[in-house]
Amino acid sequence: MNDLVSTLAATYPKLKFVAAESFYWCPETSEVFYDQNRGEDATAGWSLLHETSHALLGHSSYEADIELLHLEVAAWSHAVKIASMYGVAIDNDYIQDCLDTYRDWLYRRSVCPGCGTQCLQADETSHYRCYNCHTRWHVSPSRFCRAYRRAEHKASAPVFALQHYR
Ligand SMILES: [Zn+2]
Ligand SMILES: [Zn+2]
Repeated sequence: MNDLVSTLAATYPKLKFVAAESFYWCPETSEVFYDQNRGEDATAGWSLLHETSHALLGHSSYEADIELLHLEVAAWSHAVKIASMYGVAIDNDYIQDCLDTYRDWLYRRSVCPGCGTQCLQADETSHYRCYNCHTRWHVSPSRFCRAYRRAEHKASAPVFALQHYR
């Protein structure tokens, strides 16, 4: 993976590639963080290309939960596109597994705690509202930010991460 980091850093001089404990993209500082402990793992290169794709696509924030899923799909499509330039083939099953974690997360947040109906997020994205029993429930703005306290990210900073894939 380190060769790939060097190549990407040379190709995209506006991005900073920073060794860290996990993979994520920080739009505020234009930094792509990569897990230096997973260098031998084939999936590490895929994750690196995925986070780099978030950066190249200019992903900086999302409002609704479903939007995050769309950004994830877009970043993987772009990663597949650029992977061939670096002699990397990303396994589609892996991509689907990663996206499934987002789908599961989305599902868990959107199921009514009152009656179990799957609902849509309210206009105000910090809440869901059940059209069946009218329960309203609060969801945390992003579960992805929590894991990055060590990296000293502000809680409000949008973070695109693969942390939970492990
Ligand atoms: Zn992502
Ligand atoms: Zn309900």
